[in-house]
Parts: sequence; structure tokens; C-alpha cells
Amino acid sequence: MTDIIITIMAGTCLVWMFLVLGFVVYTYKDAQSRGMSGLAWALVVFFLPILGFIIYLIARRSKKRLPQPYQTGRPQVVYREKEIIKEVVKIKCPYCGSLVDQGLETCPNCGAPL
Ligand SMILES: [Zn+2]
Repeated sequence: MTDIIITIMAGTCLVWMFLVLGFVVYTYKDAQSRGMSGLAWALVVFFLPILGFIIYLIARRSKKRLPQPYQTGRPQVVYREKEIIKEVVKIKCPYCGSLVDQGLETCPNCGAPL
């Protein structure tokens, strides 16, 4: 019976450790991305797993989001390619019956003169 309790406790401990590790890693990366001390906040979360994380969520700086056009530091220029729509008249080859471009000397399908 005690074996089961020990197993459950060890399992819970392991799950808890992974959970804390996840929080620590997340806090570290998140703090770094916000220009804060990742290591300091990771330690806070490590020693005070739930409370530390809540404190971090409250204290963390909101990510600086610049307006879209200024984000790259240069104005965005959109190059629009002009679409040229060429009208191609097709004629029917009198020999094979396939549609070929008008102006061709011979039929590309059967080679007959047009
Ligand atoms: Zn043809």
C-alpha cells in the first residue's frame, strides 16, 4: 500500500517539476522578448512557481507594437506588376481541326500550312 502512495507522490512530483520547468522556460523567453531580465524572472518563477508567475504576468511590460508602416523602418513600397492582357485570336486548322494562333505560318499540331 505504501508503495502505491510513494509512486503517486513521485509521479505528482515529476509532473509538478515539468510544470514548473515549463513556466520557467516560458517566463525566461517571454521576458527576454520584452527586453526584461529573463534570468531574474525565471528564478522568481522557479522559487515561487504559481505566485511568481502571476507576479510576472502582472509586472511584465506589454510588447512594444509599432504601427505597421514603421515596423520595418522604411516605407513599404508595393510594386504592382502591370498585367498585360493580350488578345489572341485562334483559328481552326483546316487539316487537323485544332485551334492555333492566328498569324502562324504552319499548324503547330500537324504542320500543315495555314
Ligand atoms: Zn493542323
